Amino acid sequence: MGTLEHLKAGLRLLALELSPGQERQFTLYRELLLEGNQRANLTAITDPQEVETLHFLDSLTVALAMPRPVPSGYTIADIGAGAGFPGLPLKIALPQIELALVEATVKKTAFLRHVVERLGLTGVTVLTGRAEEMARRPELREAFEMATARAVAELRTLMELALPFCKVGGRAVLLKKGALDDEVGAAATALQEMGGRLAQIQPVPSEVLGGSRALVVVEKVSPTPDRYPRRSGVPARRPM
Ligand code: SAH
Repeated sequence: MGTLEHLKAGLRLLALELSPGQERQFTLYRELLLEGNQRANLTAITDPQEVETLHFLDSLTVALAMPRPVPSGYTIADIGAGAGFPGLPLKIALPQIELALVEATVKKTAFLRHVVERLGLTGVTVLTGRAEEMARRPELREAFEMATARAVAELRTLMELALPFCKVGGRAVLLKKGALDDEVGAAATALQEMGGRLAQIQPVPSEVLGGSRALVVVEKVSPTPDRYPRRSGVPARRPM
């Protein structure tokens, strides 16, 4: 349970390295996750090895879509963070980033706050609430270099939830598995409405986690109109 061999094998391919202190943070995060899972249902993944690969390493693939070296103070919003993915692994591996975790469920944000405290992370803000409402706060709207999300909604819904947080010139990076063409095609209208433009679909090299994973990278090219996102629940219920 102490080693992180599966994580470390993949890191080289992502051009990331961990100090002993960062390895300790990942180990502790895994413990807290497995422990917290017994009380609250945080994640379906309970095998320690799978936490390393399917949570930690998968989250870290977002680094493939970041400017390198990652600038100090680079701001990231993780929308629908759940138990902290992809945001917290990114923060552990790249401590110079400033991270906001947006999550609707109180039980999950309580866990996130606990992890942040136990790992001694600074520059992390945990926000309890729905993205539709958070995106209307002046200090959060168009305030981030990157918005990211994993396993929260289909792409056309995610455009409406994530792009309002991005600065013009920033980007949304969305983790996706499997065939994407239909989903990307269906997101074209939402993308344009929110002020985005598809920059690329970046495949994750199959050596990292096996095949069929990709990052959908969207550039924010113009401000999101004030009417978006629509009321809570509408982006998912009536996707554009
Ligand atoms: N990103 C995490 C969690 C995925 S589960 C991971 O990949 O492991 C989806 C999470 O998104 C849930 O915790 C849910 O509460 C949250 N969520 C869904 N819609 C949301 C919204 N509109 N605003 C904020 N959080 C949302």
